[in-house]
Amino acid sequence: MLVRPPSGKKVLWQEMLRHELLAALEQRPVVIVPVGSVEQHGPHCPQDVDISGPYHMAINAADAIDDFPVIVAPPVLYGFTHYNMGEVGTLTLKLELFIELLCDISRSLWANGFHRIILLNGHGGNEAPTWTASVKLAEEDIWALALTYWHMADDELLAWSDADNGSIGHGGEWETSLQLHLRPQLVDMSLAVKDEWRRHFSPDVQRFAFFPERRREMEHGVMGDPFVASAEKGERLFNLLVERLAQLCREYHEADPPRYREFGSHCP
Ligand SMILES: [Zn+2]
Repeated sequence: MLVRPPSGKKVLWQEMLRHELLAALEQRPVVIVPVGSVEQHGPHCPQDVDISGPYHMAINAADAIDDFPVIVAPPVLYGFTHYNMGEVGTLTLKLELFIELLCDISRSLWANGFHRIILLNGHGGNEAPTWTASVKLAEEDIWALALTYWHMADDELLAWSDADNGSIGHGGEWETSLQLHLRPQLVDMSLAVKDEWRRHFSPDVQRFAFFPERRREMEHGVMGDPFVASAEKGERLFNLLVERLAQLCREYHEADPPRYREFGSHCP
C-alpha cells in the first residue's frame, strides 16, 4: 500500500526529516490526506479499493509538481462503512469517531504550520462525514478542503461509461477499471459478478432524493458492472483525476485559506 512515486521522489510526510518539513513550510506547501475505507468490494476486488484510489492519486500529483512541495500525509485507511458489514472484510468506525479522526489530523497539520490541507476521499460513505469534518474545523478557523475524488471527473465519468451511467459504483465498471490499472495483481476477474442496482425511486428522482445506506441490498455486494472494466479505462480516468488534483494543488498553493474578519472590526 505504501508505494512511493515512480520517480522515487520523497513525498510521504512520515518519511521526511524535520529540516525537510521546515524547508517545505517556507514554500506554501500543500498537504494531501488520502481518506478511504477497508470494506468488501465484491468477490473480485481487495478490501482497500477506496483508499488505494486517493492514495495513488495523491502520490502521482505530488510527483508531478516540482515548483513547490506537495506532501502526502499518512493515509486514513479506516472509514465510515457500517452498511458494508455483513460481508466478510469490512472494518468500520463510528460516525463521530471518524469525523473526530479527520478533525484531529487536520488540527495537527494546521498546528504544524501546514495551512493548505486537502482531505481527498475515496469512499461514498465518507463523503458527508468528510465534508462535516471540514465544516466543523471551519468553526475553529482551520481550513481543510474536503472533496471526493470522482467528482473531479463527473462529466467524463458519465460520457465514458459503458454500463454504470457515470457512477463510481462499488466494484463495478470504474472502481474495477482503476484497480486493473493500479494493481491488477490484486483483482481476480474470474470471480467477478454483476449486481443490479436497487433504488427506491426513479433515476431522475434518485439524483436528488435518496436514503442513507444501511445494509447493502445487492446480492453480491457489488454496485455496477465489472465486466466492462478494463485497465485502459482505468488509466484514462486515473490520469485525468491526477491532472485535476494537480491543478487544484497549484491553485491552492497560490491561494490563501479563508481569513475571518476580527469580530467587531467592521464597526465604526
Ligand atoms: Zn469503493
